[in-house]
Amino acid sequence: MDVRKNLVGLSRAELAAELAAIGAEPYRARQLWHWIYHRGATDFAAMTSLAKSFRADLAERYVVARPDVARAQRSDDGTQKWLIRFADGQEAECVHIPEEDRGTLCISSQVGCTLTCKFCHTGTQRLVRNLAAAEIVGQVMAARDALGEWPSPKDDRLLTNIVFMGMGEPLYNYEHVAAAVKIILDNEGLSVSRRKITLSTAGVVPMMRKSGEELGVNLAVSLHAVTDELRDVLVPLNKKYPLAELMDACRTYPGASNARRVTFEYVMLSGVNDSPAEAKELVRLIAGIPAKVNLIPFNPWPGAPYECSSARAITAFADIVNAAGYPSPVRTPRGRDILAACGQLKSDSVKLKKSLRRDETEAAQPSTR
Ligand code: SAH
Repeated sequence: MDVRKNLVGLSRAELAAELAAIGAEPYRARQLWHWIYHRGATDFAAMTSLAKSFRADLAERYVVARPDVARAQRSDDGTQKWLIRFADGQEAECVHIPEEDRGTLCISSQVGCTLTCKFCHTGTQRLVRNLAAAEIVGQVMAARDALGEWPSPKDDRLLTNIVFMGMGEPLYNYEHVAAAVKIILDNEGLSVSRRKITLSTAGVVPMMRKSGEELGVNLAVSLHAVTDELRDVLVPLNKKYPLAELMDACRTYPGASNARRVTFEYVMLSGVNDSPAEAKELVRLIAGIPAKVNLIPFNPWPGAPYECSSARAITAFADIVNAAGYPSPVRTPRGRDILAACGQLKSDSVKLKKSLRRDETEAAQPSTR
């Protein structure tokens, strides 16, 4: 077994301390950072600005490792999905969704999840473990590898945005997520701007302010219901942090403004949460919050207790929210032929393919953002 330490996932300060401990000058940390995160180098021998003997020294003690890609799939619409396998064999999905004006990478923060949201496929799995900072950053680096995006380009990137909407609850793995975000933000490295990173939470209220203050990234909240009674069922975390508290935390989220809105995610479940009355209640609930509402057509999985709302119900819902002044794009289902696990596409069973096709023609034919 390789006992060498992985340098990916260390903060700048940790990397500097590591190098100081082996007697290297402080500026070496900066050089190494550039090679790892800007150039994407994985082999010390390729780091030609470093002295040869120093490179050899580093290679004896360290590695610059990525998680493995166990499987790669590409959808007809260009969406790519990578099944990422970590050193202990655990796996999580990472999805790239290309659009005209951006490319979004959807990443995971945990293997499994504790939240047991009723409509979510990951919710049927147990939490296996939190991902380490290196494993979160590693998803971004593996995507950059696959997209051929090294050195980190300044413009015209294929990977412009990052959303924490894969597996897991990022605010239940806050420390590792925060460490990873800081590395991803660093403008001498991966250099993704904080305005292009979105953390999605089911509503871990006590961590929302801290995350906003410390990281300053965009916030998305998985709302899905407008009464505590229903939200207790759909998102059981609501019993701990009910709607009034959640809305308060959104209202006071640091840095929210009309230019930087809080996104409310709302999965459309037929006959469950999709009535015009609920759309009106939603508008009342988010009054005063600079917000937009993402309506997500429910993506079914085998044994799921719900069905996706009809296209008509989704349009009617969107019209009410729009008319109240909140942009409410309907998320276009993407990559359904490869069953990607990002946000609206949380299912990984191939058996589902047929029913999805049927669902696609019957259900939402949503407009794009
Ligand atoms: N735990 C975080 C992030 C992961 S879920 C959170 O709850 O926000 C990312 C988004 O996908 C959430 O809005 C979630 O509600 C949604 N989602 C999960 N399963 C879904 C499904 N089957 N169909 C549509 N959206 C789903």
